[in-house]
Amino acid sequence: MTSLPPHAAPGGLVDRFGRRHTDLRISVTDRCNLRCTYCMPAETIFRPREELLSFEEIARVVAVAAGEGIRTVRLTGGEPLVRRDLDELVRRLVKVPGIEEVAATTNGLLLAEQAERLAAAGLARLNVSLDAVRPEAFERLARRPGLEQVLAGLMAARRAGFEAIRINAVSIRGLSEREIVPLAEYCRREGLHLRFIEFMPLDAEAAWDDARVLTGAAVRAILERAFGRLEPVPRADPGQPAVDWRWPDGTGLVGFIDPVSHPFCERCDRLRLTADGQFRNCLFSTTEWDVRRLLREGGTDEAIAAALRECVAAKRAAHGIGAAGFERPARAMYQIGG
Ligand code: SAM
Repeated sequence: MTSLPPHAAPGGLVDRFGRRHTDLRISVTDRCNLRCTYCMPAETIFRPREELLSFEEIARVVAVAAGEGIRTVRLTGGEPLVRRDLDELVRRLVKVPGIEEVAATTNGLLLAEQAERLAAAGLARLNVSLDAVRPEAFERLARRPGLEQVLAGLMAARRAGFEAIRINAVSIRGLSEREIVPLAEYCRREGLHLRFIEFMPLDAEAAWDDARVLTGAAVRAILERAFGRLEPVPRADPGQPAVDWRWPDGTGLVGFIDPVSHPFCERCDRLRLTADGQFRNCLFSTTEWDVRRLLREGGTDEAIAAALRECVAAKRAAHGIGAAGFERPARAMYQIGG
């Protein structure tokens, strides 16, 4: 690794609560080819192209952030694969000194076309979001067809050499219960690591309420009725929000990300960069730090690093879902970058 630039924070990006930040989630677009009910509105107007950071701008921010201690980057959106030539961005980011891994989270619709190019560019890991494997349920949740494409995309990703692909499924009371077992059967059959994520108050239509959160414990109970008793697995990576359990027949793992019932804020090591160039210190942050203005108005690398450090210094102890005075962020998940 090259030495740190002169402006670098000597101890890394450590906040008031001692949390060290090494992971940057970068949204490359707010556009998406699905309209999932828990994330997007049915109809929307996306940001004009010129408001999105260019690949050059993203690469510059990542280079500065790496100097401050960021080590891993995950590309997200919106749907990252709808951003043209995403592999080109990956190719640039893997070369940034200090960056050890570039990963992506995708809905998988365009994976069949792009998996090989992304792998060749150096993309290390893929998370694919998939909530249901019954076509009518997929369409009800995503408000668009596409299940066959996603399944084909998953197989293409495998062939392209992606290993340990994770499947992320949002679980919503009243919508997901019937999907859990078929989805688990599919993932077990295909050897895919399935993880359930609790529904968070980040949906554009503001339909979230506490009663609609199907907790990880409730999902686990459904799985145990179908498959037998799951065994908890000690957490290997402390930064990892998922708690893994082992299928009773030892065939692999199923994970639970429970931000509502078991917040993991005390272990959070993430920062975010929105597609329109704002740093955020939390999905639920109500403040943003405008890095696009710095990039476009002649700001120095030191000024970008200072914005990142300020963003970290202002991070709250916890997201506060369920606490008195909790305020939903003004932006929905697809506008922040999940
Ligand atoms: N389009 C890509 C995808 O589908 O993975 C990347 C962006 S998407 C916003 C990232 C993740 O956020 C997906 O796994 C999605 O299911 C999850 N997500 C979106 N809205 C959510 C919500 N309200 N609560 C929990 N997870 C949510």
